[in-house]
Amino acid sequence: MLNNVRIVLVHTSHPGNIGAVARAMKNMCLENLVLVRPAQFPSADATARASGADDLLARARCCDSLEEAVAECGLVIGASARLRSLPWPELDPHACAQRVREASAHTPVALVFGREQSGLSNDELERCHALVHIPSNPEYSSLNLAQAVQVVAYEVYRAHLDGEWQGSPPESPPCSAAEMERFFAHLEQTVIDLDFFDPANPRQLLRRLRRLFQRAQPDSNEMNILRGILSAAQDKARAANAKS
Ligand code: SAH
Repeated sequence: MLNNVRIVLVHTSHPGNIGAVARAMKNMCLENLVLVRPAQFPSADATARASGADDLLARARCCDSLEEAVAECGLVIGASARLRSLPWPELDPHACAQRVREASAHTPVALVFGREQSGLSNDELERCHALVHIPSNPEYSSLNLAQAVQVVAYEVYRAHLDGEWQGSPPESPPCSAAEMERFFAHLEQTVIDLDFFDPANPRQLLRRLRRLFQRAQPDSNEMNILRGILSAAQDKARAANAKS
């Protein structure tokens, strides 16, 4: 289970935090660290704060985008210190770890943490199936980045100690984040072709659709059906436009 779990840090500004995250991960037997455009890395500060977990830093993967960092993952959970304008499915760390335990038995899983100053953007949060929020003082809810990783990683490790997940394997593998993104692009184009959606006046439609399909977590067979329906609808729209 644990080797299928990656910790993704988005645009971390302080290299010391990256080192402290590596240490928190290694304490909890997590090894896959992915950095999305860190401000400074590698760095002596990161190595110093890793205090002995610098092997994780040496193996850390750097990416240009969150999309790239989570592309193969069938479950993506974003850590958020505060609630957002559009509510998204939210888990506490214990429930998050249960989801991770189950999913990581058959797919790579990403746990995504945001910037020290501003957390994760709405666009980034919308790439997540669910959010994990560490219950904390509502007036002062933002933990230090590495401490937030520590709390979530601890729960994941506790869940791992319960043993491998014993449920039956899924009928078909869950869609990866990359497949979901291709689907969302196709869905957006289809609602435009059908004149159901005006890109000049987007409101919350695309966000709500994302939330719906992320919640449903379609598997690859279901995704083929959905993509087929979209293509058929686009063909009809094209034929109707050609006649008029
Ligand atoms: N000031 C930022 C928080 C930055 S803390 C904000 O208001 O959003 C850096 C990161 O640590 C956050 O993006 C989040 O991933 C994680 N984090 C901090 N506190 C958390 C909490 N209470 N629950 C879940 N994640 C938290």
